[in-house]
Amino acid sequence: MDLLIKNGRVVDPQSGTDDRLDVSIIDGRVAGVGTGIGAEAARTIDASGLVVAPGFIDMHVHLREPGFEEKETIRTGSRAAARGGFTTVCCMPNTNPVNDSLSVLESIRAEARKSSMVNVLPIAAVTRGLKGIELTDMAALARAGAVAFSDDGQPVGNTLIMRRALELSRSLGTFIIDHCEDKGLSAEGVMHEGRYSRRCGLKGIPAAAEEVMVVRDIRLAEMTGARVHIAHLSVKDAVRAVEEAKKRGAQVTAEATPHHLLLTDALLEGQDANFKMNPPLRSAEDVKALVEALKNGVIDAVATDHAPHTVQDKEAAFAKAPFGVIGLETAVPLLLDRFVRENIISLQRFIELLSANPARLLGLLNKGRLTVGADADITLLDFGAETVVDRDKFESKGRNSPFHGWKLKGAVVMTIVGGKVVFPFQPGTGAEG
Ligand SMILES: [Zn+2]
Repeated sequence: MDLLIKNGRVVDPQSGTDDRLDVSIIDGRVAGVGTGIGAEAARTIDASGLVVAPGFIDMHVHLREPGFEEKETIRTGSRAAARGGFTTVCCMPNTNPVNDSLSVLESIRAEARKSSMVNVLPIAAVTRGLKGIELTDMAALARAGAVAFSDDGQPVGNTLIMRRALELSRSLGTFIIDHCEDKGLSAEGVMHEGRYSRRCGLKGIPAAAEEVMVVRDIRLAEMTGARVHIAHLSVKDAVRAVEEAKKRGAQVTAEATPHHLLLTDALLEGQDANFKMNPPLRSAEDVKALVEALKNGVIDAVATDHAPHTVQDKEAAFAKAPFGVIGLETAVPLLLDRFVRENIISLQRFIELLSANPARLLGLLNKGRLTVGADADITLLDFGAETVVDRDKFESKGRNSPFHGWKLKGAVVMTIVGGKVVFPFQPGTGAEG
């Protein structure tokens, strides 16, 4: 036996497990889950008082490599993931060059094999160069390991191109992750359109810019029989559209980010660009609808939309600064403190949102569960420990977090990928420094 995790509270929503159990690991896989597993192990971890969960999966991150290594690299992004409790991340294709060809896809996979501490699954572009004009060779990209397709950062503006992309994704057994934004309507907006944008004198992005695209793409998914996953859902009316589509049996799923679940546009009065992202922070009413959707299952997954930028980028005037905030190192303690501790969602539901559901959506049959034969990707949590969000301690190159200084109850204490402890960082594994 390679690793034995003793006496933890093993919580696995997929098998309905919630008990004080031991987990044994051999050759990177779960070999046993039960009481009193006593065999000799190369390493034993005492998990008394800790929660043992299937490793967390973030379906939506920007690792910035290739092309923007000053913002993040696969190496630094993976360290941020490990510290944040994520064992698998899916990276968006808006790199330079764009991940729209086999050569770029292969280079990302090769760099991940070399320098990533966690599993990195690339999402390939829907259209070449994210230009919305010509579809990529989705069949070849899917065969080569693209886990899904997205033009994230941009919508697929042309409805016919989106229809063709959905038809093709259906025939390939894959799906589209949809950045829903009507660019004509969002125009040059930099924050949510409402009383705070008027008060700040800044151009607004109306809620309808998201809603009309969500409605369009649900309609196209129903028309083509394809699967569409709505990225970073942020407004009440889009939540309602997803809810109604699900009731009709449309193959639509959705994610929300911790920042959209916790922050509102009222925080924009200081015009701090660390609160600027796209979609923008919305109204209190929108946040309420999102939290309700988190509880009732309309939202399937929490994803961070981790989007690192340099300090210099973010020091520009608010209207000029780039969109995006980081999230890999704060998502888990934020959700534990603000939603699980507050009894807004159960621990089981939290693990569904962070692990079981993303695994299911991505078709990762050996992940998102803690049963014999599963990949030994495991996250250990301590409810009692405090996490203080400190931008100077991030492993990410990004410092652009809206949560700097927050004190949270709940912490990631260990992250295990393929049976190997990757966090806390181990000396002498090339993982240090
Ligand atoms: Zn996006």
